[in-house]
Amino acid sequence: MKNLLLATSLFLLIFSCKNNSKSNYDVDIDFDIATNTSKRANEFAIVIHGGAGTILKKNLSDEKENEYKAKLEEAIKVGYNILKQGGTSLDAVEKTINILEDSPLFNAGKGAVFTNAETIELDASIMDGKTLNAGASAGTKKVKNPINLARKIMDVSPHVMMAGEGAETYAKEQGLELVDQDYFKTENRLNTLNRVKANEISKTKTTAFYDTDIKDSKFGTVGCVALDKSGNLAAGTSTGGMTNKRFGRVGDVPIIGAGTYANNATCAVSGTGWGEFFIRATVAHDISALMEYKGLTLQEAAHEVIQKKVPNLGGNGGVIAVDKNGNMVMDFNTAGMYRATMNDKGELYIGIYKQ
Ligand code: ASP
Repeated sequence: MKNLLLATSLFLLIFSCKNNSKSNYDVDIDFDIATNTSKRANEFAIVIHGGAGTILKKNLSDEKENEYKAKLEEAIKVGYNILKQGGTSLDAVEKTINILEDSPLFNAGKGAVFTNAETIELDASIMDGKTLNAGASAGTKKVKNPINLARKIMDVSPHVMMAGEGAETYAKEQGLELVDQDYFKTENRLNTLNRVKANEISKTKTTAFYDTDIKDSKFGTVGCVALDKSGNLAAGTSTGGMTNKRFGRVGDVPIIGAGTYANNATCAVSGTGWGEFFIRATVAHDISALMEYKGLTLQEAAHEVIQKKVPNLGGNGGVIAVDKNGNMVMDFNTAGMYRATMNDKGELYIGIYKQ
């Protein structure tokens, strides 16, 4: 009798364990299927920005507005075609940013803003969401397309970030195109510098970063985030930084987690705004972390950081982002942000002002 009881309880125990593990297993499978299919908004997707700031309709002629829109469209279509043909999100991000860097309209590459010493110093970074590998360059003066240098640093070198002359030596070694400072300089940006400097003197400010004129001016950094058909996310950002910067100032853009972040488990983010605050708020990583650790959606996470955390510190700006399911977000607390999206159906959206 004792033996029978023992055998029965053993049988029940084994049976219930098996049952438990089976039902747990089933739940996991169902959950995976749910996240991989029903929540997948786009098989691939791409989002770009050309900077946030006080971009108001009244300050932009129809002609200029069309110029911006045409360039945003040209750039995003480069990345879109790469993704559509099955290319990687990293290639899409890099090649899209190249178009924006080469355009004098944006504060990156040609047309970048001037430092206090009337030089151009460029920052860039790129991140691979699959491997969490990243590359960044800071304060370069000769590299024509800093995003290409960031990519080389990520792909070829054992380092994540290189700065100044050393970074330029590496760029040369890697066969990247170097140009004279004059290539980057535009009259428009020089006028902005002179205006900011004149303001600085009249207000006897010690640093231009606390000047309301700068706070309110357009930033113009460029960035791109993408999800490819293999489910890999990537993010990249390129900038001349902020007008009148000095003392080798480096902003958020080349700092992984501040201006740029990508993680296949969550999302890819590129920011534009007042860099000092984006560094202190670790904007890009914070958005990813809110999704990873708190289960927020991309939209909720971006809102939390851009509409609450950054402005509460006193900063301003915006982000573009795409999550692992192809949901796209463009959030900013400024009057406008040059931006565009394309989904897997090839539908294009271009925006400049707040809707
Ligand atoms: N975030 C950039 C910086 O502070 C500026 C920008 O977004 O235009 O360097």
